Amino acid sequence: MAALILFGGGGDLAMRMLLPSLYFLEHDGLLPDGLKIIGAARSEETAEDYVAKVHEAVKARAEQDQAWDDHSWTRMKARLDYLAVDATSADSLKPLKDKVGDGEVTSFLAVSPSLYGRIVTAMKAAGLAERNCRIVLEKPVGRDLKSFLEIDDAVAHAFREDQVFRIDHYLGKETVQNLTALRFGNTIFEPLWNNLTIDHVQITIGETVGVGDRWPYYDEYGALRDMLQNHMLQLLCLVAMEPPSDLDPESLRNEKVKVLRSLRPITYEEAERVTVRGQYVAGVSEGRPAKGYIEERGAPSDTETFVAIRADIDNWRWAGVPFFMRTGKRLPEKRTEIVIQFKPVPHSIFDDEEGEALANRMIIELQPEEDISLTVMNKRPGLDKRMQLQPITMSLSWGVDGKSAAPPRRRIAYERLLLDAMAGDSTLFVRRDEAEQAWKWVDEVAEAWAESGHKPDEYVAGTWGPDSADMLMIRTGRDWNTTDV
Ligand code: NAP
Repeated sequence: MAALILFGGGGDLAMRMLLPSLYFLEHDGLLPDGLKIIGAARSEETAEDYVAKVHEAVKARAEQDQAWDDHSWTRMKARLDYLAVDATSADSLKPLKDKVGDGEVTSFLAVSPSLYGRIVTAMKAAGLAERNCRIVLEKPVGRDLKSFLEIDDAVAHAFREDQVFRIDHYLGKETVQNLTALRFGNTIFEPLWNNLTIDHVQITIGETVGVGDRWPYYDEYGALRDMLQNHMLQLLCLVAMEPPSDLDPESLRNEKVKVLRSLRPITYEEAERVTVRGQYVAGVSEGRPAKGYIEERGAPSDTETFVAIRADIDNWRWAGVPFFMRTGKRLPEKRTEIVIQFKPVPHSIFDDEEGEALANRMIIELQPEEDISLTVMNKRPGLDKRMQLQPITMSLSWGVDGKSAAPPRRRIAYERLLLDAMAGDSTLFVRRDEAEQAWKWVDEVAEAWAESGHKPDEYVAGTWGPDSADMLMIRTGRDWNTTDV
């Protein structure tokens, strides 16, 4: 019997993401035959009570997507079980080990990362780290390189690297994988994918929500560690990496690590010029009054809720092409996008007043919709004496031939990742050295801020961050993308 253990199976992540993902996989007939799903947390509740909670959470989510059906639920229910355990205690884990027996076990740690070290040690002692066991770790693993290594060393003591699956759920998104298909499944883009043709790259992850009552976690991390160290650097790697020789997990991850190693360190002197920290103050968000971070926190704090950074990649392909990244809470839109801004034509033969030749732009949109679009210049139809240009935007994701129509439902990124982890495929997971390099680079930024006493600039909730974030671009003669795709 194969088993999936959800440590923290009653928590927010499990109820909102993991269990609905498992339901959708069940619905589509994709769960391995005989798989048992076992919730494991300290709360003393019966399996029946747990199943009732899961039913409520899963049904609500599936109904939103019009994907609820009683047959699928009946099949999923038959797989579900619950055991009250303290995952930090080997003794407490023994009955869990007895329950799963000697079959393949995938354990998902949906618990506070501060427990990871103690949990993996207890798992090893309880026989849950044998060769047929795998472990899935949620971010954030550590808050800097030192704490990452402490936790990861404990993990490495219990599990071999090929048993460890560090999640960055952005990698499970369809469009992120489509970016790899687009780059390496076509000949037309790759020759242009360099500093001869590309002017710069922008990566934006905008959130409209504030920190709210998550501040005890957030205040220790801030936007740099919570979003940039993981999701944003992963996206940067996928845009910037060299073509891997195949899709083997190691080939792909080797290329990502090379990008991280090529990131130019941000020194103390440089930090003021190429980084921006922001913190929201009261404003209006999504039409409603929104408190400032300090009011939510209830005490003064220097934690940034917004970060913007200009990164440079010191290699032949990207020399001179800045990568601008920004992310924050209480921004005007929930929007995640990568903008590949091409250079303008070297000499324009068109009359600028009558429709200038705008530089081409590719936008890889991950949120709110998933799409890849390319803007090209076109002749405005008509008999005007002078030729007039107009930009047109083509969607590259779903095509117009009907063969690649949009899927009926947008999958939760965890669906793909859960399936891959259970199958032992680590392509879409973060290898130890990737996380290590990412922390190393981010640590230098954090240290530069700490040394210089660099305080966050204020921005009003519901705006695109502080003015200094615009200046970061304007100083180089560029602008953040404001067009909708
Ligand atoms: P949460 O709602 O606080 O849930 C934590 C769960 O862990 C609870 O079910 C808790 O149940 C259980 N737990 C605590 N101590 C335990 C122990 N010693 N043994 C066994 N179970 C224990 O947290 P969460 O928001 O789901 O987050 C879980 C993890 O996912 C964290 O690493 C977080 O950073 C990460 N994450 C969460 C989200 C999200 O959207 N929520 C997004 C990205 C990453 P009992 O009290 O019953 O033990």
